[in-house]
Amino acid sequence: MSKNTIPYKIYLEENEMPKAWYNLRADMKNKPAPLLNPGTGLPLTAEELEAVFCKELVAQELDNDTPLIDIPLEIRDFYKMYRPSPLVRAYCLEEKLKTPAKIYYKFEGNNTSGSHKLNSAIAQAYYAKGQGLKGVTTETGAGQWGTALSMACSYLDLDCKVYMVKVSYEQKPFRREVMRTYGASVVPSPSETTQVGRQILERHPGTTGSLGCAISEAVEAAASEPGYRYVLGSVLNQVLLHQSVIGLEAKAAMDKYGIKPDMIIGCAGGGSNLGGLIAPFMGEKLRGEADYQIVAVEPASCPSFTRGTYAYDFCDTGHICPLAKMYTLGSDFIPSANHAGGLRFHGMSSILSQLYHDGYMEAVSVEQNSVFEAAEQFARVEGILPAPESAHAIRAAIDEAIRCKETGEEKTILFGLTGTGYFDLVAYEKFHNGEMSDEIPDDEMIARSVAKLPKVE
Ligand SMILES: *Cc1c(COP(=O)(O)O)cnc(C)c1O
Repeated sequence: MSKNTIPYKIYLEENEMPKAWYNLRADMKNKPAPLLNPGTGLPLTAEELEAVFCKELVAQELDNDTPLIDIPLEIRDFYKMYRPSPLVRAYCLEEKLKTPAKIYYKFEGNNTSGSHKLNSAIAQAYYAKGQGLKGVTTETGAGQWGTALSMACSYLDLDCKVYMVKVSYEQKPFRREVMRTYGASVVPSPSETTQVGRQILERHPGTTGSLGCAISEAVEAAASEPGYRYVLGSVLNQVLLHQSVIGLEAKAAMDKYGIKPDMIIGCAGGGSNLGGLIAPFMGEKLRGEADYQIVAVEPASCPSFTRGTYAYDFCDTGHICPLAKMYTLGSDFIPSANHAGGLRFHGMSSILSQLYHDGYMEAVSVEQNSVFEAAEQFARVEGILPAPESAHAIRAAIDEAIRCKETGEEKTILFGLTGTGYFDLVAYEKFHNGEMSDEIPDDEMIARSVAKLPKVE
């Protein structure tokens, strides 16, 4: 096919952008398991959830049936500042790999926060504002979510308090300063500022923290300050709902040019970008209208899907959050200081966990050095410096393209390029200096952590 048949970059027109989010749960026969109250073991009611989360977001969280949920006009206007995001045909990468595969990526790094997380941040801030709240608290791993949320909050004039995983706070001071530029206050976690933070520090002195710890602290802070609610950047159903804009745009752009992906790949931390990217494609698959091979890519140091257990577990280390049924390594699992901070979560979205359990998608894990090799190869030919998280998807896409070269298959591959890596240059430096290691947990370590899963009938 001539290069000119399909443009390097496909942008939708503004009027072609989605006006509603797609709620994948509406098409799932086996719905994701409900969040449980850890005290009673019963599904959480809206009233209980509203003590922690914004009202409208609770409604979205619990809605398993409405397929399309209108995107409020104000959010659509905000989206227009950085969307539609381009769908790029990776012609240069294909050429370099000499593969017959056709590779596309949906690039979500075209905003100052540098990742897809802004898609949900603006929605969550919008509903918090609508409820008349003073502000929100949250956790951040690598800092992308905190950055996105601080941008959204400053736009809407909301206060924003971010508990940042200590290892990232130290490794990524630049993100911290972007957050402060947007008016957020940033606390390294675990901290002495919350009860749960002090407990964790006592039990694990010298810990570099984890998303699980930071979540506990942010929830406690929201619950103890009037006018505040907690918001979360991944894992939850509502976040996957907001991120469906990624997949809806990608599908609209592909449909416009008559392209059908055979394989869709995304990195998976809590599952939000992958859940968003695959949403409309998975919807077709669930309705029996089309088939796609869907692959989640996770770090070998935090292999929730590939080595985790499908069970109810706490979302946080401090055990103050609801129980979610998911593929989990155990809420006590603190992964090694992997540079893909956004993928260091012990659990996984309940929606994706159910789909994986039912055989609708696959998962692979990849090691850190090979991820950075892929990142570098990609940067050199495609011109974008990828986030380490995104590079997990690049690794899997390149591996598949190489397989296609061997078999001669002209497979069409779509992957999510979730963000840019300008704030991850300490990680790139380690890689270039040959100082990057990967601590892959042994079976015993995972078994120890999983043995402590809460007992739920
Ligand atoms: C947070 C993040 C991820 C992982 O989060 P998901 O919820 O699994 O999407 C991936 N890539 C980037 C750039 C991120 O910031």
